[in-house]
Amino acid sequence: GRTVHQIQSGQVIVDLCSVVKELVENSLDAGATSVEVRFKDQGLEAIEVQDNGDGISPHNYETLALKHHTSKLSTYSDLTTLQTFGFRGEALSSLCALSRFSVITCMAQDAPKGTRLEFEVSGALKGTSIVAAQKGTTVSVESLFNNLPVRRRELERNIKREWGRVVAVLGQYACIQTGIKFSVTQQAGKGKKTTLFSTKGNQTTRENIINVFGAKTLTALVPMDLKLELEPTSDPSQRCSTKGDAGKKDIRILGHISRPAFGEGRHTPDRQMFFVNARPCGLPQVAKAFNEVYKGYNTSQSPFIFANIELDTHMYDVNVSPDKRTILLHDQTRMLENLKVALTELFESQDY
Ligand code: ADP
Ligand code: MG
Repeated sequence: GRTVHQIQSGQVIVDLCSVVKELVENSLDAGATSVEVRFKDQGLEAIEVQDNGDGISPHNYETLALKHHTSKLSTYSDLTTLQTFGFRGEALSSLCALSRFSVITCMAQDAPKGTRLEFEVSGALKGTSIVAAQKGTTVSVESLFNNLPVRRRELERNIKREWGRVVAVLGQYACIQTGIKFSVTQQAGKGKKTTLFSTKGNQTTRENIINVFGAKTLTALVPMDLKLELEPTSDPSQRCSTKGDAGKKDIRILGHISRPAFGEGRHTPDRQMFFVNARPCGLPQVAKAFNEVYKGYNTSQSPFIFANIELDTHMYDVNVSPDKRTILLHDQTRMLENLKVALTELFESQDY
């Protein structure tokens, strides 16, 4: 029934940040090169994500927001080697249960006409209408949690902290996605729309960081390209590959980090960003290793860190939590040891 649906929906959509993540990830999955995120009243009123991706095929309208309907998962093995962000078909179904939810979508051949889709709370398609639209999809979430008074009050009470997290996570997507033009706007009440940041697409992560965090941040950063070679292990349980080979497992960590001598004050945790294969994620142990090494050179400050860990999809699990935020790196201990050595070498090679 409806209650069960609402409770289960709590699994993937737990707060404002998860709404934003799910919608942005859908846009990336759809091959968008432009993503615009618009907030009204910091998302309390509305969150809109507009992309120029592939659009949604009319075949999928009916099932789009039904639970466990996804256009992305074709075989079981996809689950372990997943390249796309989505895989559960839960986000849109949850959003129907938890907000006033609608979609406008247009496939290339139909522009400048698109279809507006409205849904029942259950996720069933309520109706469609033809509207003006360009290629891509706009998803609109209004009055989030309005039908769950306790959750809604909690959201309103914590909005300041929630908003901080939302802006931080959008900044991470905007910085790491070099091929995507990102923009984030916010409108308070009937006030003027303000742009929080925007990137241009087709530029380096360095240029993205300037767009998001400001040029001043960059003067203090050194480019980082750490190569970690994990030797094959004889302990089978430590082997990562399901293919059965025990070859070298190379990990590359690409990004930017504060030059110890040029730190501009303490960077708060939202300025320490970690990605696994360009997917933003919290990696507390990795963060700890970075900070430890940095402390060896500069004890009074903490670094800006932008680190994308590139590694084979067999070397980690992303599917351990419903919201996909927890990532388990296999062989983490050895990886962290190697990381500390490589980072120390990087700092030693600088005139810090
Ligand atoms: P999942 O991403 O796990 O497949 P979702 O509930 O997030 O599940 O989305 C359901 C389906 O809706 C997706 O599989 C996709 O086909 C479609 N979809 C959602 N957002 C977009 C978008 N921005 N562009 C194109 N298709 C989308
Ligand atoms: Mg999704």
